[in-house]
Amino acid sequence: MFIDSHCHINFPELAADLRCVTESMAANKVTHALCVSVNLETFPEVLLIAERFATIFASAGVHPDAQSCEEPDVERLVGLASHPRVVAIGETGLDYYRVDGDTEWQRARFRTHIRAAKQAGKPLIIHTREASEDTLRIMREEDAASIGGVMHCFTETAEVAQRAMDMNFMISFSGIVTFKNAIALKDVARGVPLDNMLIETDSPYLAPVPYRGKTNQPAYVRFVAEEIARLKGIAIESVAEATTANFFRLFYAARAVKA
Ligand SMILES: [Zn+2]
Ligand SMILES: [Zn+2]
Repeated sequence: MFIDSHCHINFPELAADLRCVTESMAANKVTHALCVSVNLETFPEVLLIAERFATIFASAGVHPDAQSCEEPDVERLVGLASHPRVVAIGETGLDYYRVDGDTEWQRARFRTHIRAAKQAGKPLIIHTREASEDTLRIMREEDAASIGGVMHCFTETAEVAQRAMDMNFMISFSGIVTFKNAIALKDVARGVPLDNMLIETDSPYLAPVPYRGKTNQPAYVRFVAEEIARLKGIAIESVAEATTANFFRLFYAARAVKA
């Protein structure tokens, strides 16, 4: 069985037919998925899905790309995270690729999320793009290691992966690892120990091969697992077992310790 540790099934491409999305998960042995929040305005949709389907969990957070939206504070995030179906804070982080000009607001928002995660006792889902040094620096300055979490849709170097793992973060691979030209990322995936690894779709985007370019969905996480197994020269069952155990260890054990 597989778990999709990061998806956005509340987005219109998938939200229109959630019954189909969840049936397709079941048919592909994808037992659970984590539907990740990107702003406060659509958080209620995310939560509603997690309340409707026992197989779907939710997170609470505001994406670093979200600009003209309500700004969260620590208290607000901690309040949202107190809901039993909310297992993480995020997605948060830094993205210098999409945003021009002054990015101080991104760093301030990122710090807010780390503080909220520590206070709520729930792990972080971190997004980083063209900003790995600042991301790691703020994680260190805010002691993100004390709560841990996941570096989602990882596309950075093995060195960045190691520094994140040293701070108690797992590394999550998406469909990008199945792309033929993702040579460097395939090498990174070979080197990340199974015990520190999660798999995800980030659907509706980034569909893995053989569905590249199409609408992605949680059921396709099995193609990510297949590629990891191929890269490591191990059985797909080993990837499934480890990443599933890691998911529950991260999103449940962390909570139990802090409770
Ligand atoms: Zn992201
Ligand atoms: Zn995402």
